[in-house]
Amino acid sequence: MIAYIERFIHENDTESRQGDDLSNICQSLDLQGTIDYVATGIAAKDFGGLYSFNPLAIIRPAGADDIAMAVKAACRSPNLTVAARGNGHSINGQAMAEGGLVIDMRATGENHFKIVTMNGEMFADVSGGALWEDVLKRCVNLAPRSWTDYLGLTVGGTLSNAGVSGQAFRYGPQSSNVTELDVVTGKGDILTCSETENSELFFGALGGLGQFGIITRARVKLQSTPDMVRWIRVVYSEFEDFTHDAEWLVNRPDGVSFDYVEGFVFVNSDDPVNGWCTVPLDPSQRFDQTAIPPTAGYVLYCLEVALHYQNSDHRSAVDMVVNSLLGRLRFAKDLKFQVDVAYVEFLLRLKRVEEHARANGTWDSPHPWLNMFISKRDIADFDRMVFKKLLKEGVGGPMLVYPLLRSKWDDRTSVMIPAEGEIFYIVALLRFTPPYSKDPCVEKLVSQNQEIVQLCMKEGFDFKLYLPHYKSQEDWKRHFGNKWLRFDKNKANFDPMAILAPGQKIFKRIN
Ligand code: FAD
Repeated sequence: MIAYIERFIHENDTESRQGDDLSNICQSLDLQGTIDYVATGIAAKDFGGLYSFNPLAIIRPAGADDIAMAVKAACRSPNLTVAARGNGHSINGQAMAEGGLVIDMRATGENHFKIVTMNGEMFADVSGGALWEDVLKRCVNLAPRSWTDYLGLTVGGTLSNAGVSGQAFRYGPQSSNVTELDVVTGKGDILTCSETENSELFFGALGGLGQFGIITRARVKLQSTPDMVRWIRVVYSEFEDFTHDAEWLVNRPDGVSFDYVEGFVFVNSDDPVNGWCTVPLDPSQRFDQTAIPPTAGYVLYCLEVALHYQNSDHRSAVDMVVNSLLGRLRFAKDLKFQVDVAYVEFLLRLKRVEEHARANGTWDSPHPWLNMFISKRDIADFDRMVFKKLLKEGVGGPMLVYPLLRSKWDDRTSVMIPAEGEIFYIVALLRFTPPYSKDPCVEKLVSQNQEIVQLCMKEGFDFKLYLPHYKSQEDWKRHFGNKWLRFDKNKANFDPMAILAPGQKIFKRIN
């Protein structure tokens, strides 16, 4: 008993000495921004709501110098880690740092904004902590070419993953649409990098899950904006027809296809969250269930497309382009929905969904989401085994599925996509759970996700997790496959003590 108490006192002494050391290290920081040890709760939460790890402190930096100072202080400490937090929209605690320093990148959101013209091309220099919706607002008459569906995400957060939406078939993900970054490395160095300058850091950081540095500025490619968008949804009963048409559209050259191509699976029922009523684009439109082909099964497929146009374009010319493209598709007659909306309204379309979900409590409830990239070779089997069987009652939210083109993804980045073929599909199971409900409990949904991943492995599908989450380095090695050696080498070069983004659970902090 005495030995136990002695050990207890000794351990507590050691812990409190370490605590004092850490406080001293943090207090020695000469930040222009602020450090908060008390109200740290926000950094222990994310959109997923599945994990919670308390940091030692939140730093609200004034700029890259503050971030570099915090990283250098962590390097001097025995065990501190540092996580950049974008808007905390991760699912599995990726932006958390247990007992470490969380850098609130939103504090730097306004730090950079400049339109740059080079060789006749337009770019915007924006802060890594800026939200994409703020980038959109500031780029009057110009806009980034590649988006995410939801714009309340930060530039640095999506570039550290990929950033995918219905424009990616043409321009690639957001990580293929930047030409220069400013990065604070895990050694506290502030470096500018691009294809030609510090290129290992540039390509490593894109899709690099925050492992090599904290992105403080990005130079984003721009295009001039259309005024309007014709936004269209058409419905299919057969997966084969749906994929045939979606692939036909994404393979057509620029100028002779739609400007946006996505798709989703929904339940062939009147279920208010998963069924027919999720398809019409406007409250005045009605889904006529008698138009569903009699051969339809448990689930149906919706192709969602959009065409850009200017106010000065004749309506009949827009109709002609739309009708000639739709005329080639095999969707169910009478299950076509369309609206004309302003371009900005189209890009901000998920704002309304967010407001609704906030009002009914599902925005703040857990979100056990699963995102994957699956090769074209295996997508029909995935449909048969997963959409048509395991998920035939839906997931309580959108089930996205649409094709992407390998040639638009830069293989030099850290992003992982399936090994084979030009076409692969993104599959996103965006589960919303009702607040205060125990049934189905979140654990069941997480284990259903695991079951789907296991099934893909067992069947030998060619797939990768997007926004990946693994707990062991062995799993990460498998995920990165033949890119692991480069990933590991980049870590040794740019963050040798494994200070950065500990929430990804790829590397352990070196004492
Ligand atoms: P966080 O979740 O805060 O951070 C993500 C990771 O990046 C963490 O490891 C963090 O440490 C690191 N990080 C954050 N900032 C930086 C930085 N400046 N430099 C280096 N590392 C950094 N993804 C898509 O591709 N397409 C979509 O359409 C899409 N829609 C979404 C809709 C919703 C409602 C949600 C919740 C997520 C969506 N996502 C989508 C996923 C999104 O891309 C990721 O959640 C991503 O992590 C961005 O979120 P964030 O900016 O909040 O970053």
